[in-house]
Amino acid sequence: MTNPEFDKKFGEECGIVGVYDPNGDVSRLAFYGIYALQHRGQESAGIASADGHKIKLRTGMGLVTHVFKDEDLDYLTGDIAIGHTRYSTTGTSNIKNAQPIVVDGGNFKLAIAHNGNVVNSLELKREMEELGYDFNTSSDSEVIAKIVSNAPASTWEGRIAYLMRKVQGAYSLTLMTEKELIAVRDPLGVRPLCFGKVNGGWIIASESCALDNVGAKYVREVNPGEAIIFDSQGYKSIYQKDMEKCSFCVFEHIYFARPDSEIDGKLVYKSRLLMGKELAREHPVEADMVIGVPDSATASAVGYSEESGIPFGEGLVKNRYVGRTFINPDQRMREVGVKVKLNPLRELIQGKRLVVVDDSIVRGTTSKPVVSLLRNAGASEIHLRICAPPIKFPCHFGVDFPTRKELIAANNSIDEIKDTIEADSLGYLSHAGLLKAVKAEESNVCMGCFTGNHPIPVQLEMDKLSLEV
Ligand code: AMP
Repeated sequence: MTNPEFDKKFGEECGIVGVYDPNGDVSRLAFYGIYALQHRGQESAGIASADGHKIKLRTGMGLVTHVFKDEDLDYLTGDIAIGHTRYSTTGTSNIKNAQPIVVDGGNFKLAIAHNGNVVNSLELKREMEELGYDFNTSSDSEVIAKIVSNAPASTWEGRIAYLMRKVQGAYSLTLMTEKELIAVRDPLGVRPLCFGKVNGGWIIASESCALDNVGAKYVREVNPGEAIIFDSQGYKSIYQKDMEKCSFCVFEHIYFARPDSEIDGKLVYKSRLLMGKELAREHPVEADMVIGVPDSATASAVGYSEESGIPFGEGLVKNRYVGRTFINPDQRMREVGVKVKLNPLRELIQGKRLVVVDDSIVRGTTSKPVVSLLRNAGASEIHLRICAPPIKFPCHFGVDFPTRKELIAANNSIDEIKDTIEADSLGYLSHAGLLKAVKAEESNVCMGCFTGNHPIPVQLEMDKLSLEV
């Protein structure tokens, strides 16, 4: 049986890149790639490079710019590189879990960078341990690496088919041998992955903003269930699983991805703008000014303002050097974190009835201090509007949502939440409104955190277990 705690701790939201460029500086391209994806993970960063003969690796704890100095990038020579930024979950800060991971499969060495979460990793690990394989980490990414490097197949097509047969869950991957670069996206297409042309080569990245940053020309997304190999001949799709359905994570549009990225064929900024417009239709209110909680809700606040006719303004200034408050390990620190991160513009909001748009409420720890900051700064009314529906279920596919016990909407009515956070009114976007904003059918996206309908049925078992944690 799968173990939710194993998977929750070690699978997560991350940023990945892959570069193939025989004439370029691959480690620097990978560096700028993961730098653009810093929002997807701040705990650790790493780059591996290959020169046709050997794989070199550098990983470290912290932000991309803290981990890599010029001499590290000089050391990482070759034609190919992959990179990774890792998101921190509940305090499991451990250099052992930094990626890329390099494994020796006997016939070849394999480096892997993984974004997502495998839901049957414990089973697979046990199966392999019984066959005599050793594991160095407790990460699901190492399980993927060992499955691929020991697959009973002599071609990449065969190895990827084996991987997709064995492994269940979310995995966007960049894989690298001494000589090859491969991009893989799981058949459900839960996490994003795209690629583009750069100089005389190619770059793969979680989000298109990383392509823009290095001046690459966007080509397309890696399809769900597809594997693509990159070499001097160009790129070649080497495997495409027959598609039953896909389940792109809708939370990428709400919060995770950068607004300037195009994912799932849509500009994230535009999706957020439309969420704001839908919110204005679903939860209108009389007010003097619409503000967003920076940065993820800014576009939605603009959308709310455009649809309602209430002027948009900036009411909170964000210290850009403070990371995402959510990652602070305990509740008290999260509350302090909000004050350190956000400062109200008193003069602008004094005496005003405010519509405050935020992307999501998870535990409810951010909203309360935000409301009280604005109230203390003189706002006369605070109407909170949330771009996501109530989050009632944990995510087992790579977003760090806590257990049901900690999710405020799993245990409280909307009215109770409104009272807890001390807002004058509270409105969440409906499921239908969200689907309209991201222009998707429910059957093509994962909304498991809102509905409990996860794309793989085994998840229901895990949700029950998470209630007991
Ligand atoms: P909370 O205080 O637990 O309700 O957290 C809600 C805030 O954390 C949201 O407004 C987001 O800005 C941010 N957030 C939401 N989901 C995540 C996540 N999975 N990881 C990091 N931050 C998140």
